[in-house]
Amino acid sequence: MELPGSKESNVMMVGNKDAFKGSIVDPETIKNQSVRYIEEKKSLEGLKTCLEEKNLTPVLTLLLDEGSMNRSRVLALEYLVKLSDLTCLDALRNHSFRDETLKIKVDTALKQILTANFKKECPYCSEIIKSQAQKCMHCKENV
Ligand SMILES: [Zn+2]
Repeated sequence: MELPGSKESNVMMVGNKDAFKGSIVDPETIKNQSVRYIEEKKSLEGLKTCLEEKNLTPVLTLLLDEGSMNRSRVLALEYLVKLSDLTCLDALRNHSFRDETLKIKVDTALKQILTANFKKECPYCSEIIKSQAQKCMHCKENV
């Protein structure tokens, strides 16, 4: 630009009010991200042996971690069905999945696990009951 009455040209930097302040890096955030990432890698490794160890931990860690890759979580879901361990139910039922497709897949997997264990969830109190039950043993409702 040129100043009025001057033939001298100057370069002027233009930016909004947030420009030139530098980026703010929060070391705590960076640390938490890498802790999460290490946990994801560890759980992904853990999937390989989870069936023989009957270990639900790596499977649940991946499924409940919204930061994990979708591909890893879908893989974890396969192992969840194979493990067929009903103790996974509460943690997964109480988690809000951001990905609607994954939520539907989890629901389907839980239904498969319940069926494989001859169980169902009471529609009134959500307790796990025998699939052939006609009255819930927890809330006494007819199911
Ligand atoms: Zn009930």
